[in-house]
Amino acid sequence: PLRAPSPAPSGGRIPGVRHIVAVASGKGGVGKSTVAANLALALKSQGARVGVLDADVYGPSQPRMLGVTGRPESDAEKMILPLHGHGLTVMSMGFMIEEGQSVVWRGPMLISALTQMLHQVRWGTLDYLVVDLPPGTGDVQLTLSQKAAVSGAVVVSTPQDIALLDARKALDMFRKTGTPVLGLIENMSTYICPNCAHEAHIFGHGGARDEAARLGLPFLGELPLDLDTRMLSDSGAPIVASRPGSDQARRFLEIAARL
Ligand code: ADP
Repeated sequence: PLRAPSPAPSGGRIPGVRHIVAVASGKGGVGKSTVAANLALALKSQGARVGVLDADVYGPSQPRMLGVTGRPESDAEKMILPLHGHGLTVMSMGFMIEEGQSVVWRGPMLISALTQMLHQVRWGTLDYLVVDLPPGTGDVQLTLSQKAAVSGAVVVSTPQDIALLDARKALDMFRKTGTPVLGLIENMSTYICPNCAHEAHIFGHGGARDEAARLGLPFLGELPLDLDTRMLSDSGAPIVASRPGSDQARRFLEIAARL
């Protein structure tokens, strides 16, 4: 649990930032960015000061999800001034490129871009900096663990075997880099029909909970497939910000309270 301030490996602390929380997944498309955005908003609604660092270099989705666009400016000391949306301080690789453009970078470019986003941004005073990682176990994940004092990582998976297989790899990477794992979240866990309330397990159900139990890790919660969650994310006002009273928002608040 995120009780004590994060440890301080050599130069990894960002001045003013208490906890860096990484949101990771083994596979793409499991809802990692959706979880990162809504978790950040849930932490904020608990009264915390929260930033979001969108490090998903290949598919930065936070500008769209949080409805924040523009190009950050630099101050006289060449520090980048982050943007703001829904009360969150936001920095994204997406601010540096046009929407629809691809990032065709080799490892060293990725490493320098992430290092800059961590240490050359005026993050200000934050209780949590939520980092939306790209899927998988590559240069960005390694760089984060080497250049930042990460308090803990949350791993998002869908319930089916193939996604869990990749989630296991992400967990193994965090073990190897000495990053504490805060727990697993099962997204797209069930589908509740809005017409008849029938519950269908489209991708299976309970796989992430079982995996967490097997590995002795906390299970942080399950989030059903939900049309509003998708539509509101796509429209730049995630469900925790725009429908705070909904069941899905409540689930995000419960997960945030477990961190
Ligand atoms: P990732 O970051 O893992 O690639 P995203 O967060 O971009 O995944 O989600 C992929 C798509 O699935 C998005 O369109 C998103 O709105 C949608 N999505 C994510 N979680 C849910 C959910 N619980 N219910 C419905 N749609 C979801």
